[in-house]
Amino acid sequence: MIIALSGGVGGAKLALGLSRVMPAAELLVVVNTGDDFEHLGLSISPDIDTVAYTLAGLANRELGWGRHDETWSFMATMEALGGQTWFRLGDRDMALHIERTRRLKAGETLSAVTADLCRRMGVGPAVVPMTDDPVRTRLLTDLGWLDFQEYFVHRRCEPVVSQLRFQGAGAARPHPAFIAALADPALQAVVICPSNPFISVEPILAIPGVRDALIGCNAPIIAVSPIIAGRAVKGPTAKMMTELGLDPSAGTVAQRYADLLDGYVIDHADMAEVVSIDARVTLARTLMTTIEDREALARIVLDAAKVLRRRELRGLRHSGQR
Ligand code: GDP
Repeated sequence: MIIALSGGVGGAKLALGLSRVMPAAELLVVVNTGDDFEHLGLSISPDIDTVAYTLAGLANRELGWGRHDETWSFMATMEALGGQTWFRLGDRDMALHIERTRRLKAGETLSAVTADLCRRMGVGPAVVPMTDDPVRTRLLTDLGWLDFQEYFVHRRCEPVVSQLRFQGAGAARPHPAFIAALADPALQAVVICPSNPFISVEPILAIPGVRDALIGCNAPIIAVSPIIAGRAVKGPTAKMMTELGLDPSAGTVAQRYADLLDGYVIDHADMAEVVSIDARVTLARTLMTTIEDREALARIVLDAAKVLRRRELRGLRHSGQR
């Protein structure tokens, strides 16, 4: 079994690669819910939706969010009526939000709704929210504290970020399947996908018990850098680093996960950073443009995990523990 920690776009790309080079049923994708919010009366889980649509082959590759072959009648009508249109919702996408909202209101958990909707969309791997409890990422900016989507979508990541807060994380309980998988002797690796560390991975790590369970698990933990040659492929990761006084680099991301990492996959372009990284580094082509890129990177990550497991076994044998 493999666990993948994921945000939206970057995470979903690698999760898709993994699901195609290993038995999909042995992959557990744990998804950030700090981006979740309520809008127009609907419960929206952007990262879960991106991961689910991507794994189901339904994602809109051009937009980077939502569904392909989408139509926009709802949005156009909203606009004509003077309604809110800053968060765009396609007609097909809307069905998912309406159905999720109805089921959550009827008392189902986000996990249960996610599992069922994923099954109906034909998603192979298990996709679970990091928690069923509400966690909301907020950002302190030059405009004051902003809700995540206000910052990310409405204000297009333009405000300058100085601090982040994961409201509700302290009282949240990690998804039980996540914690059970971390304790399972069959676990082969934990993959931290190339997601934004500040707004996609750290909300997961902020849930009480998650860090300890990761540190205590027997499988190697391997991250893939979302930064290539000092730049984010998409989104505000590098911009945020600069605003937070950090050097935008693959090495900085490794430092965020310092106590967790056994292995780290970075791009060939970042070879000079190898010496500064305190984990076993693998150099690879980490830009995932095609489906073949996603599969190739997934194979590299799984191979790196295999090497780390072998080294661990050898280490135990030498120290007489085995
Ligand atoms: P979000 O929640 O939709 O912002 O998605 P994530 O946090 O999962 O992904 C955003 C991060 O993915 C950004 O930092 C990007 O640099 C990174 N990313 C996107 N595509 C790629 C890719 O092909 N390769 C790598 N290495 N990183 C990528």
